[in-house]
Amino acid sequence: KKEQLELLATVEAVTKDGVNLHLAGNISSVKELDMALKYGAEGVGLFRTEFLYMDRHSFPTEEEQFEVYKLVAEKVGSSTVVIRTLDVGGDKHLDYFQLPEEQNPFLGYRAIRISLDRTDLFKTQLTAILRASHYGNVKIMFPMISSVEEVQAAKAVLNEVKQDLDQRGIPYNANIPVGIMIEVPAAVMIADLLAEEVDFFSIGTNDLVQYVLAVDRMNEQIAHMYHPYHPAVLRMIRMTVQAARSAGIDISVCGELAADERSLPLWLELGISNLSMSPQALLRVKHRTLNTVASEARETAKACFRFKTSLETEEVLGAFAGRGA
Ligand code: PEP
Ligand code: MG
Repeated sequence: KKEQLELLATVEAVTKDGVNLHLAGNISSVKELDMALKYGAEGVGLFRTEFLYMDRHSFPTEEEQFEVYKLVAEKVGSSTVVIRTLDVGGDKHLDYFQLPEEQNPFLGYRAIRISLDRTDLFKTQLTAILRASHYGNVKIMFPMISSVEEVQAAKAVLNEVKQDLDQRGIPYNANIPVGIMIEVPAAVMIADLLAEEVDFFSIGTNDLVQYVLAVDRMNEQIAHMYHPYHPAVLRMIRMTVQAARSAGIDISVCGELAADERSLPLWLELGISNLSMSPQALLRVKHRTLNTVASEARETAKACFRFKTSLETEEVLGAFAGRGA
């Protein structure tokens, strides 16, 4: 079965009735990039850079980061790599960076909040990303955005860094696309306003589900309440897509929901063609795509957006995915 799937690596992800999907990889290291490419990823939809900061004794330097970002950009060639700025805090910690003890780490000092507070660290990272943008098709993405002010502040820092590079005479892509993760309910509710500020959205369903449902994604005791197919989550996703479409900006999904092949009808119905997922999921999702009739999938998804419970959606999507090969 595994060998059969691997034959699909070089096949395009297209439904039986000709709808093309772009399946990219979520990676956190060069090793994972190699795996993603082996499994046919079309670029990197999410590079989780925090892993560059882990398992060491101090922050990675601009040069160290640059080397890795450049290597990744070069390896993906003409495809794109979306580099997400540091997303520590919450469940991710760095030994050498003392974060405060928090009652609610997932509601606390994490991700873009740290970057905007520690602009020294933020600038180092942005400089490295910009420098790498000269060597490939690089996009920047900010995590955990919950307000327009945060986006504007982050872009202001990015502009400072660009001016700095200009002065140093170092080349970079001045038009580097800038996007944000949509993973906080506030961002969904103001998606129309955020869309005016950025070039793309990427929906992070892992955090979005946790924050919409108030269900800690790490808490096993309530894991049975963590429902990606909850009607509230589906509505949030749909709202985000509508805002992106109205504004004419790109949209993709990079949360684990995209790796669940049952979710495919939802993306087809919403018109999302860019999905990013862990390398191990790529061939499974591609296999499902090849065996799906988009027009049928859309009808199925339409019903899901009307269901009152996650269970109904799970059953119907499960049955749909179970059909065919
Ligand atoms: C997400 O929240 O869905 C996401 C892709 O980011 P992470 O899992 O790294 O928080
Ligand atoms: Mg997240």
